[in-house]
Amino acid sequence: MNIAKGKVASIDYTLTNGKGEVLDSSSGQEPLAYIHGQGGLIPGLEKELEGKVKGDKLIAIIPPELAYGIHNKELVKDFPAKNFPDPDDIKIGAQFELQQDDHIQIATVTNVGNEVVTVDMNHPLADETLHFDVEVMDVREASKEELEHGHVHGAGGHHH
Ligand code: ZN
Repeated sequence: MNIAKGKVASIDYTLTNGKGEVLDSSSGQEPLAYIHGQGGLIPGLEKELEGKVKGDKLIAIIPPELAYGIHNKELVKDFPAKNFPDPDDIKIGAQFELQQDDHIQIATVTNVGNEVVTVDMNHPLADETLHFDVEVMDVREASKEELEHGHVHGAGGHHH
């Protein structure tokens, strides 16, 4: 069976950045299972996996436009330090989660002044060219329930 829209694919992967540093990996865990064509993976990786079958191995090099985007200066903003619950604890490089309309955005503190904290709300991997070393472990039909829920049930997915 080929990976196509509405199929559940399970993949083992190692993600490295342009410098060869490992950023993420399924090694030692269950393969990552996702429903193809629903935006569960970054667009560039779904495109590379399209049509692949169980046992296929590939190296996908994904430019930032098809991964986590180009760094947007307008998403770097200053906030009054007094707005933070623990102003003395804020450090450069600290990350926290912001609840946006439909997703969670990771924000990174990039500067700390006396009264102002600069926060970068771009994805931490914005501007990165990503290298995925992938092996397709399984491809199957998604169940009706999985398609309705928009996520995978069972191994590598949601348990409920
Ligand atoms: Zn569900």
